Amino acid sequence: MIMMKEYIEEAEKALLHTYNRYQVVLEKGDGVYLYDIEGKRYLDFVSGIAVFALGYHNKAYDDALKAQIDKLIHTSNYFYNVPAIEAAKKLKKVSGMDRVFFTNSGAEAVEGAIKAARKYAYLKDGAADHEIIAMEHSFHGRTMGALSVTGNPGYREAFGPMIGNIRFAKMNDFDSVKDQVTDKTCAILLETVQGEGGIYPAGEEFMERVKALCEERDILLVLDEIQCGMGRTGAMFAWQKYGIKPDIMTTAKALGCGVPVGAFLMTEHVAQHSLASGDHGTTYGGNPLAATAVNKVLDLFEENHIIENVNAVAPYLEEKLDALVKKYDFIEGRRGTGLMQGLVCKGPVADTIKEAMEKGLILINAGTNIIRLVPPLVITKENVDEMADILETCFSVREQ
Ligand SMILES: *Cc1c(COP(=O)(O)O)cnc(C)c1O
Repeated sequence: MIMMKEYIEEAEKALLHTYNRYQVVLEKGDGVYLYDIEGKRYLDFVSGIAVFALGYHNKAYDDALKAQIDKLIHTSNYFYNVPAIEAAKKLKKVSGMDRVFFTNSGAEAVEGAIKAARKYAYLKDGAADHEIIAMEHSFHGRTMGALSVTGNPGYREAFGPMIGNIRFAKMNDFDSVKDQVTDKTCAILLETVQGEGGIYPAGEEFMERVKALCEERDILLVLDEIQCGMGRTGAMFAWQKYGIKPDIMTTAKALGCGVPVGAFLMTEHVAQHSLASGDHGTTYGGNPLAATAVNKVLDLFEENHIIENVNAVAPYLEEKLDALVKKYDFIEGRRGTGLMQGLVCKGPVADTIKEAMEKGLILINAGTNIIRLVPPLVITKENVDEMADILETCFSVREQ
């Protein structure tokens, strides 16, 4: 039998070395547990980075995909297909947005949102020199456009020039946003809850004031819900808890629960005054297989009361994490909302995460100092207990 170590050596010879991967080869999943090829079980508090909301090996989801594979996997966007029509209708309903464009990833959804915002401004003054305000510490993806609005200079440095006319402001500092506004500003872009940047939710007042500024100046509010959306914070989309509405929003990650799919959505007003026939496209985006995944995910969210579960389990998770914060000096505090939580630590967390992995718990960092918890949305309180017990042994070893 080929063991994990040999596979890892082969991987390191064949794959481009852009990740420092955990030293585990995963084979299968069941519910909130993952199994490596040697049969070891892991409680998963990452869900493939906020993707597998429904838990692994969900029979209804798997069966729907298998049935679609037997019918039709791909056509092209030059034809209509029923799964995409159904998925778009359902996505409109849960978001309250009016029009949907399906993409293959989160970064592509951000690219589309940027293009829509620029076209909207172009149609007003015929110029192509508009500016976008994005946030420091934000993350929007690795393609050139998405990277250009990502507020982490380290990610951008080697890859310049970025797309032009991007200005950065501070999340939750309204004046810093206002200071960046000019006559050329076409969009203000932010994650409703910053994910990679360290689990920073937008403050309510900040969001309201940014929205009001956008309305006053006819600037488009673009909310990136790729990580914080799809029920993770206890609402289908995190912005729905703020009493505001974006002009454009992006979604991906849990949208297909593992089948690569994303989307950007907009209001009818923006749709009528931005991207038109020939302005944007994708070969795969919203193909029958991907759209079937979206359909089934949205159905199962309703049937299995996923958001209700988030709201039932999240306070318990917060309570457990707060107890750890109190008990261990190494942990500075907790940040987050719903099942999107971060433990802010006083030093690098890589060793703690590695140790948790050895003890059968999968965690991930956000930045060097933050342990990020983005579990499947079907976790139970018992799963939270199991996670907290393992994490506790990691911290107590550390503080001995
Ligand atoms: C993951 C992520 C992206 C990029 O999505 P990909 O599918 O990796 O391209 C963009 N924005 C946010 C907020 C994300 O968390």
